[in-house]
Amino acid sequence: MIQTLLKEYKCVPGERFAYSSQNKSITFIAESMRTPAGKLALLHEIAHMKLGHFSYKYDLELFKMEIDAWEEAKVMAKEYLVKVDESHIDDCLLSYDKWVTKRATCPRCKSFGLQKTETLFSCVSCDSQWKVNKSRNKRILRKLIN
Ligand SMILES: [Zn+2]
Ligand SMILES: [Zn+2]
Repeated sequence: MIQTLLKEYKCVPGERFAYSSQNKSITFIAESMRTPAGKLALLHEIAHMKLGHFSYKYDLELFKMEIDAWEEAKVMAKEYLVKVDESHIDDCLLSYDKWVTKRATCPRCKSFGLQKTETLFSCVSCDSQWKVNKSRNKRILRKLIN
């Protein structure tokens, strides 16, 4: 029945599991389809598509989308009899949590900052502002701008 899903959601084999809201397509690692972890990763990407996720402006929106996509993936996993590794899901969410926290932490005084734009934060206690890099797959860079 995973085959049905692959067709229904126009999934194409690729080098990683990913959902592109621009292309309305999903890539998946074909060799992983035999393992429960691979199937679950696929369901997660399909969940993003089902829920109509697309661009986000704030980190917390992205975090929320990840939580929702995992919830939906769990529902689908039941339907498609895919084994769910809860600790894997926890690890994924934890890494997003760390990412969100680190970007929002003031490089000067370590307080929590507010996100002003996609790449700009400002500190509520010392008024510092810092820029972050856009990619969430790369190392987090914070650069003070005042
Ligand atoms: Zn995701
Ligand atoms: Zn500060």
